[in-house]
Amino acid sequence: MANALGVYICSGCSIGDAIDTGKLAKVATSEYKVPRCQVHPFLCGPEGRRLIEKDLAEGAVDSVVVAACSPRVKTDAFAFDPRMVLDRVNLREHVVWCQPPNHEDTQMMAEDYLRMGIVKAQKSEALDTVLDDLSKRLLVVGGGIAGMTAALEAANAGYEVVLVEKARALGGFVASLEKRFPTSAPYEDLATDGTAAMIQAVMYHPRIRVLTSARILKTDGQPGMFDVTLAAETGELTTRVGAVVLATGWKPYDPTRLAHLGYGLSPDVITNVELEQMVAAGPIARKSDGRPVQSVLFVQCAGSRDKDHLAYCSSVCCMASLKHAAYVHEQNPDAAVYIIYKDMRTPGQYERFYRKAQDHPLNFLTKGEVTGVEPAADGRLSVRVKDSLLGDQIAIGVDLVVLAAGMVPNAADGVAIRAVNDARATLTRGEATEPQKADARKKIDELAHHEGTEILNLTYRQGPDLPAFRYGFPDSHFVCFPYETRRTGIFAAGTVRAPMDAAHAGEDAAGAALKAIQSVELASLGAAVHPRAGDLSFPIFFLQRCTQCKRCTEECPFGTLDEDVKGTPQLNPYRCRRCGICMGACPERIISFKNYSVEIIASMVKAIEVPEEDEEKPRVLVFMCENDAYPALDVAGLNRVHYDPSVRVIPLRCLGSLNIVWIADALSSGIDGVMLVGCKYGDDYQCHFMQGSELADRRLENVKETLQRLQLESGRIQLTQLAINEYDKLPALIDGFMARIRELGPNPYKGL
Ligand code: SF4
Ligand code: SF4
Repeated sequence: MANALGVYICSGCSIGDAIDTGKLAKVATSEYKVPRCQVHPFLCGPEGRRLIEKDLAEGAVDSVVVAACSPRVKTDAFAFDPRMVLDRVNLREHVVWCQPPNHEDTQMMAEDYLRMGIVKAQKSEALDTVLDDLSKRLLVVGGGIAGMTAALEAANAGYEVVLVEKARALGGFVASLEKRFPTSAPYEDLATDGTAAMIQAVMYHPRIRVLTSARILKTDGQPGMFDVTLAAETGELTTRVGAVVLATGWKPYDPTRLAHLGYGLSPDVITNVELEQMVAAGPIARKSDGRPVQSVLFVQCAGSRDKDHLAYCSSVCCMASLKHAAYVHEQNPDAAVYIIYKDMRTPGQYERFYRKAQDHPLNFLTKGEVTGVEPAADGRLSVRVKDSLLGDQIAIGVDLVVLAAGMVPNAADGVAIRAVNDARATLTRGEATEPQKADARKKIDELAHHEGTEILNLTYRQGPDLPAFRYGFPDSHFVCFPYETRRTGIFAAGTVRAPMDAAHAGEDAAGAALKAIQSVELASLGAAVHPRAGDLSFPIFFLQRCTQCKRCTEECPFGTLDEDVKGTPQLNPYRCRRCGICMGACPERIISFKNYSVEIIASMVKAIEVPEEDEEKPRVLVFMCENDAYPALDVAGLNRVHYDPSVRVIPLRCLGSLNIVWIADALSSGIDGVMLVGCKYGDDYQCHFMQGSELADRRLENVKETLQRLQLESGRIQLTQLAINEYDKLPALIDGFMARIRELGPNPYKGL
């Protein structure tokens, strides 16, 4: 526990004009008997900071509450020893900038926030520094453009890299290309420079060790100490690395699923990848009879942007077909080329190449839908097209049809693999019932196309590879953290992360390499990565009371916890992102952080002064996710938007860390309602810890029982999803909830 607490109140930024800071100081000194409390007109300035530093240096205080602006600003001014107990009470954005000055309610709000801050600091403990001997070497998996770029970027920044490639040589798909999309001005001509120079740079870099014809047998451990066992040409070896960049690329969408576009009907219906291989091998010719082609039709979005196949845009197929049209005309200037598209997507400078292709007199590009491909009487193919521009059905006879098939990530979905393995085990288990076996068969069938081959072979309790997001991509947050996967210290780059061309894969890899570097550097300090970057706290498990219910191991979004044979959780601290979801999950309440625990938040709830019923001042508690909702409320303050002064906000690391006991405590202490504001969930989730707000919503089911027991209306609790840019909606949401609470009347437990 904090011993000597110093409370420092800023009266600048109009705080002192709107509230009585002297009265506020009395809350600290009289109610909480804090040994040091000072009011300063400019606390974030050099003099204000010196004031705090002096008290710390003299030993007058060992922990600090700064009551000033939002904890999200002035972080440099109030950066002290990161292990020290420090709480920032948000008087500026959350009180004086959104409430009328010198009003009784404004003062009460400020005083409650100070009480909560003091209690939190008093209950918190200083953090330890964990200093294991950690590796800063990086493992890059995949030797294509993304993998080679990641390896070079990291090595040039001074980090050792082990690059593992399953093929015999580096280069990946791009090395097999005859020509590449334009790479320099005027962006009208295909590039002929391959990957040779980059391969040389990687092979001879003093800090890169290249292992080709290699695969990963096992990845043990955690960031800073991943022990990776590899099968390479030279035999089996184990290497320790600090972080991993997964750059395993893509594979073409299975064309046998494109029978409706003619694949399999004739050897003259081929995919774009097959055309590329044909060009590399020799002339473009009909596979059926070897004759050169006089006409080619490209079917765009073959399988992509199609809910029955790949629902997403594969990003490169439009440019690939334009490039292939150029190949056709290089070999046969008189050939007719048809490109049937839904939309042509040629972003950035590629638009210039598109224009050049449009200007070619023998290129016919039209927006339409291919409704069928049939053999024609003359031995060619007849393609039926519903042309949206002509508004008519047309039939085009051609020698060759090329399906611009899309990209599928070369990822292995660990969750699917584990589910399939479990289902297979059920099938071989003697005592499994027939319905269980039928379920298992169904599961294997459903997940067949997700399964893939293990790549990382993680020895994690939650499965051997990265959990895949929608459509099999192994990312973790499509808005804020593009490279982070759901396994800390493992970053995805290039086409395994999202469809993209080689140029973008290179940029992507540079980003992922930097993230991997950041991860090993933070791990070496014992600190968390995104989004709580720098946090030194760790969950602590009071295992004597663990009932081995496994909720924590199952709900941790990052696979941080393994289990011993009895099912007791085993923490791998460097995998932890400090979200507190395990803390919210544990029914025994035995998981806590030194500065964030069920008890600390419960004490903050109790610190709120609840006015008597006859004062007609309701109190509502708002648990707010610190990632989106809390900053959104800051922005509302910045815009001086007023909202009901009856609310008291407690930020949570993630709504998933919510323990329902806080709600029960709040309601039984007379608080009139509880609002939870978290990130959006569902397919386009924005939760920074993947599914925290969704978990909180599920946990609220259990609160219904509490409400029934207390005979309280269910309308006293509300969960709201909010995006960070919806700050303008937040005050109205709060006011709307308050209106409902006023309608319901005071909580009957008030004053008891
Ligand atoms: S704090 Fe979050 S990341 Fe860490 S173990 Fe708990 S649930 Fe997992
Ligand atoms: S949730 Fe709590 S009781 Fe259950 S296994 Fe984890 S630590 Fe043990």
